[in-house]
Amino acid sequence: MNIENAIKKAVKILKNENIKSPKLDSEILMSNVIKKDRYFTILNSKKIINKKNLYKFNELISQRSTGKPIAHLIGKKDFWNFEFQIDKDVLIPRPDTELLIEEVLKIYKHKNKLQVLDIGIGSGCILLSILREKKDFTGVGIDISGKCIDISKINAKKIGVTNRIRFFKSDVDNFNYGKYDLIISNPPYINSLDMKCLERDVVNFEPNIALNGGLDGLTNVRKVIFKSSELIKVGGRLIVEIGFDQKQKVIELFKKEGFYINKVLKDYGNNDRCIIGTKL
Ligand code: GLN
Repeated sequence: MNIENAIKKAVKILKNENIKSPKLDSEILMSNVIKKDRYFTILNSKKIINKKNLYKFNELISQRSTGKPIAHLIGKKDFWNFEFQIDKDVLIPRPDTELLIEEVLKIYKHKNKLQVLDIGIGSGCILLSILREKKDFTGVGIDISGKCIDISKINAKKIGVTNRIRFFKSDVDNFNYGKYDLIISNPPYINSLDMKCLERDVVNFEPNIALNGGLDGLTNVRKVIFKSSELIKVGGRLIVEIGFDQKQKVIELFKKEGFYINKVLKDYGNNDRCIIGTKL
């Protein structure tokens, strides 16, 4: 069978299971199996695919049809300028979170030598991207999940920033190390009731611990803001990713802990996505 026909068959299967982007997904999985990029796959659609690869491809398509995310099937996800190793234990980096990187680079365009803390580092995508872009920044990443710390370490090596980052397996409540110029966090912020309404790919396959923010979604956001007010230098900035309907409540929390609100960032869907504050 050639690439084109294998993909056509796969698209049918994925469509039947209501997978949103069946063609793109099939192309990515095919490219992964034949170890080429997507352009090669598209431009060489008449090439015959060998039996072993066809079997592997069909196997991946069958897993994708259950909703298993592409990032889990290929073990990686592009974020910002880099490729991150991903598995089921970390939240898959979201394009919307790239806006946070863009904003940090804008704010600190002319700044060197900042100390950055990432609370709930996950795959490492936020802090590692910032460190790679700003050669004189140093970072600390914490997470309650040891598995996240392990993946972050692997990604730090891949991205080449190991010598400027330290990791701690810790709950934010018990973390008291250092004072920071910039604190960033994408904590779990979905409220427990909404967890059930998330897309199948997310709710069935991504870690509950990275998504579930308790009854009002703000359990961890509260902790992050409270603790950041102790860990941040005066004049330092705190950037927290939030749910689309949490802006007002989170602004109040920032103010209560002595932060001035600089900006509310919108995501690609025009939802309020990040609050940026400065410690007074
Ligand atoms: N933005 C993520 C989602 O929509 C949630 C991330 C989080 O809870 N921090 O699935």
